[in-house]
Amino acid sequence: MKFKEFGIKKDILNAIRKAGYEEATPIQEKAIPVIMEGSDVIGLAQTGTGKTAAFALPILNSIEFRKRARVRALILTPTRELAIQTFENFKKYGRYMDLKTVCLYGGAKKGNQLAQLKRGADIIVATPGRLIDLYNEGVLDFKSVDYFVLDEADRMLDMGFVPDVRKINSLLPEWRQMIMFSATMDKAVEDLANQMLKDPVRIQV
Ligand code: AMP
Repeated sequence: MKFKEFGIKKDILNAIRKAGYEEATPIQEKAIPVIMEGSDVIGLAQTGTGKTAAFALPILNSIEFRKRARVRALILTPTRELAIQTFENFKKYGRYMDLKTVCLYGGAKKGNQLAQLKRGADIIVATPGRLIDLYNEGVLDFKSVDYFVLDEADRMLDMGFVPDVRKINSLLPEWRQMIMFSATMDKAVEDLANQMLKDPVRIQV
């Protein structure tokens, strides 16, 4: 399936063309229309399937223009490496849009991350611990978050991040749309999905 069939706007289609993608991957074909409709999604997909674009493209598509200093999408990843990779994907697909994306992770100095947040962020990609740390500094406001993505939920569980994830979830508006991806699905992931997602559409490739 071609990306233009999803009804994605031109700026994003141009960025996809520049990235050299010809067709949507199976997970993208399934997830993009469902996310665009506004449903919560639980997706079973490994890295390498194109799962990042599966949530990044519909999120970018819904963000029309910059509203100063209002976070509209929050993406949580279990590791710094995945946070950086996901951040780079958002930059790549949003290259023709006037949006500010900020990447926050532990093991790096807070000063630079604080300075970036003070300039305003439309999209935040973060690891849970550092995000809470920065929230406690009073530089973050999640009241306008429309999209909440939990990537690699199984690893979040393995790494003990679920209490942090729950805390962050409790700070978001109730009406936010949530997308959860996991490479594996066991009872713990199912339980988390049941607690956090509203009538989710299940997607798997
Ligand atoms: P991910 O599973 O999100 O880590 O993506 C795996 C790799 O596939 C990344 O390097 C993406 O840039 C690339 N990719 C994502 N979607 C497509 C697509 N539709 N066609 C070709 N490559 C893609």
